[in-house]
Amino acid sequence: MSASASERANLRGQPIRRVVIVGGGTSGWMAAAALARMAPPDLSITLVESDEIGTIGVGEATIPTLADFNAFLGVDEDDFVRQTQATFKLGIEFVDWGRMGERYLHPFGVHGHPTPEFKFHQLWLRLVHWAGDDPERRALVGDLGDYNVGTVAARLGRFSRPQAGVHNVLSTIRHAFHFDAGLYARYLRAYAEARGVVRLEGMVVGAQQRPQDGFFEAVRLRDGRVIEGDLFIDCSGFRGLLINGVLGAGFIDWSRYLPCDRAVAVPYERTAPPDPFTRATADLAGWRWRIPLQHRMGSGYVYCSDHLSDQAATDRLVSQAEGRLLADVRPLRFTAGLRERFWVKNCVAIGLAGGFLEPLESTSIHLAQMGVARLILLWPDLAFGQAEIDEYNTAARLEYEQIRNFIILHYKATRRVDTEFWRRCGAMQIPDGLAHKIELFASSGRVFRFQDDLFTEDSWLAVMLGQGVRPQGYDRLVDRIAHDELLTNMGRLKDVVLKSALSLPAHQTFINTHCRGATGIAPA
Ligand SMILES: Cc1cc2nc3c(=O)[nH]c(=O)nc-3n(C[C@H](O)[C@H](O)[C@H](O)COP(=O)(O)OP(=O)(O)OC[C@H]3O[C@@H](n4cnc5c(N)ncnc54)[C@H](O)[C@@H]3O)c2cc1C
Repeated sequence: MSASASERANLRGQPIRRVVIVGGGTSGWMAAAALARMAPPDLSITLVESDEIGTIGVGEATIPTLADFNAFLGVDEDDFVRQTQATFKLGIEFVDWGRMGERYLHPFGVHGHPTPEFKFHQLWLRLVHWAGDDPERRALVGDLGDYNVGTVAARLGRFSRPQAGVHNVLSTIRHAFHFDAGLYARYLRAYAEARGVVRLEGMVVGAQQRPQDGFFEAVRLRDGRVIEGDLFIDCSGFRGLLINGVLGAGFIDWSRYLPCDRAVAVPYERTAPPDPFTRATADLAGWRWRIPLQHRMGSGYVYCSDHLSDQAATDRLVSQAEGRLLADVRPLRFTAGLRERFWVKNCVAIGLAGGFLEPLESTSIHLAQMGVARLILLWPDLAFGQAEIDEYNTAARLEYEQIRNFIILHYKATRRVDTEFWRRCGAMQIPDGLAHKIELFASSGRVFRFQDDLFTEDSWLAVMLGQGVRPQGYDRLVDRIAHDELLTNMGRLKDVVLKSALSLPAHQTFINTHCRGATGIAPA
């Protein structure tokens, strides 16, 4: 053991008393709010942010885990929706991804009824094989989305929160939100400051490190202030001011799998009721997002600069706006990938400072949330045990890899060949684990969730089928059920799902009734 390590071992059991968070974007304020919620009374939390630098200002679509985060904070969901001008999200609609003219929904929540013996989708696949190319039979069986109440409600523009009762199809609804990122940061800031977090405005220009081991002792601001701490959380965005700028944690570049490296974003006036889903439309060299909020529509174009100029992307985005533009078009640049280590010494990178996977499945805010949750689970003492640090880094890497693979699937499993970009995606080499997953599904429709993969079997199914991966066979054990009985039961279930979705209010009506923001939607 080196001298510095043995000195640190003497600090075993001694609590962290001062946390310094650098950065006040969504990640910084999520970290501040969660720690303020958990902190013992003698833990001081200081957040430094620079108005001059500002935040990235995008990041409006989420996944259902955000509701868990809000619940952990103890905030009232209606209040949160009102304050952030949020709408509800039942999934993502993918347009033109498999082939031009095709669309599918990746919903949250399950398809059909889980049975103890069989996977539901295998029952459905059996009927799909029976139906073959016969249009009448195919209509009878329907697509897998017909058995997911979130998908059907989304198609109808309806929404409600899940209802009670295990046998009630409406209990399987899962929802997330679209929100104004700036308002969410403000919301969390109010929460955190009310619980003792101190916010400092200022530009961090340097850090002081312990000579013996390089652990941070303080950060220095441009105006000369020195902010001391025991634990430093780097939420400084892409620049990774501490984790990379000072500690040189390195970056693993995944652009060979996810080649999109730029985006342009612009909000516009919303001209129709808000859909309860995000839309992701595949375009010439990437895809466009459309995110309905109460007070506006968020839009953007994520693209690959090898295949499209900034001007062409901007023109394309602007030409697709359905209402008056509300701001200038904002350009953004990024590289897909992650830090070799998220946690080094007494510094943990959370949010964009730690890594970035493009927003196709709205996972960045979730990754920041998991970064905070994992830090709380492995909360260190002043000794900063290497075992905890290693555990954090290993788990974070695995999580990024699993999400990366799911996003790659959308690009790889395309049948589009109309542009150089899509031909490149269809031909690209993909990670072995993902290749195996696609082969297994194409063979017998089997899909398994690996470890703590964020995406459930239902998610993999929705995207594989939506992209056009067609299983050649199915699990023959489901042949045990008599054909007529299966057909009747599936038909009944499809009916129940449709009737249940039809019983829900319009999304806009739901918002107006429960959680309309100050300048939100006009009455339905
Ligand atoms: C095109 C695009 C679309 C996206 N869409 C989504 C989406 O739909 N859903 C989703 O979940 N995520 C999305 N994301 C990601 C999302 O925007 C981020 O995960 C989220 O905003 C968190 O960012 P952050 O807080 O880590 O960084 P930032 O917002 O960049 O905040 C960095 C903070 O650090 C501060 N700072 C930096 N340097 C200094 C300094 N020297 N001194 C003091 N302060 C400093 C800044 O002032 C700022 O407060 C998207 C990202 C991109 C690029």
